[in-house]
Amino acid sequence: MQSTMERKTERTAQKQDLMKALAVIPGTPNTIHLREVPKPRVEDVPEGRGVLIKILNVGVDGTDKEINAAEYGAAPTGDDYLIIGHESFGRVESVGPNVTEFRPGDYVSLTVRRPGSSLYDQIGTYDMTTDDVYFERGINLRHGFLAEYAVDEPEYIIRVPENLKHVGVLMEPMSVAQKAIEQAYRIQQRLRVWKPKRAAVLGAGTLGLLATLVLRLRGLEVTTFGNTMPPYLNSKLIEELGARYVSTKELSLTDASAKYGPFDLILEGTGYSPLVFEAMNVLAKNGALAMVSVTGGARQLEVPSDKINLGFVLGNKVAFGSVNANREYFETGVKDLSTAELQYPGWLQKLLTHPVKGLENYGEMIRLLTETKGAIKVYCQIAAANETQVASAG
Ligand code: BGC
Ligand code: ZN
Repeated sequence: MQSTMERKTERTAQKQDLMKALAVIPGTPNTIHLREVPKPRVEDVPEGRGVLIKILNVGVDGTDKEINAAEYGAAPTGDDYLIIGHESFGRVESVGPNVTEFRPGDYVSLTVRRPGSSLYDQIGTYDMTTDDVYFERGINLRHGFLAEYAVDEPEYIIRVPENLKHVGVLMEPMSVAQKAIEQAYRIQQRLRVWKPKRAAVLGAGTLGLLATLVLRLRGLEVTTFGNTMPPYLNSKLIEELGARYVSTKELSLTDASAKYGPFDLILEGTGYSPLVFEAMNVLAKNGALAMVSVTGGARQLEVPSDKINLGFVLGNKVAFGSVNANREYFETGVKDLSTAELQYPGWLQKLLTHPVKGLENYGEMIRLLTETKGAIKVYCQIAAANETQVASAG
């Protein structure tokens, strides 16, 4: 027989080893639920290189919607559930003995992909993997961040300055915008001189807004397309950056291109794949089209293939795909977030339209994500910075 005391200690010990997390059962639609899972420990990472992070805020997006609809995503081998959430922001709680990069109290965000086996994975560019299987925390085969804690090794953790902690949850979508735009510039080195003047961003959600910001910081004239009629928060935010908002309800990309183009750089991020072909058709000579929409459907389309092809050939145009982001783009993302705070003070925070308090309110979170028109960023406030255990360093 156990004494009450013993039972109590056992329960406490057990409790300490568990945490709350939001998970789905991949393959079955609408299974988002709160569950207790083992709390990760610094020791989970070999060689004393673990960093334990208390998660503060996690953003959700269309990918989470698709995962909950069982259209996308897979559980880690050995589990039948997947902890979702890939847009992370948190605070370091403790570090292993061989971690020099971080200290308890540091604000951080984590990258999403984890390396497979291709050459690209081995050199830190896991976002460029050629493997058939890819690992993404909160999306595919790896648990995510909608939980009280996460542990990982320093390579996948990026420090966020304390002065950006109110917008730290934008780090991951920012990294995706950074990668697509930086890739365009690198590809265009083929031209020896490329001075893009006009850019078009298709999509006015979080990604479109952040891409507009990044291109404005690079000095481009930007036209951003959305499907809502102004005045809308999105259109106001775009105009605050000195960019132009076009509602596709009023003006198509083709007509807008005749009026405001031609566009040297087009970034397509609406999730509506037919726009890719319209964009190809209007892209400027020597222009670059970045495709970033993850489209899980099976849509078919008839396109003016001769015309598009001829335009590409005679105009030396390029179109490319861009997915995910490695730590390099999180690092440049931090810099652009900082510059944005100086150049457009308060602008970033206006993107954080729909906070949801606590993991237990996941029903509300999914409802906002799937039903609310005009929601820019829906995110879960899992804990507040002042709830963290660590003393602030200096
Ligand atoms: C995420 C990326 C990820 C992509 C494909 C996006 O929602 O932000 O990190 O690579 O989905 O899974
Ligand atoms: Zn995403």
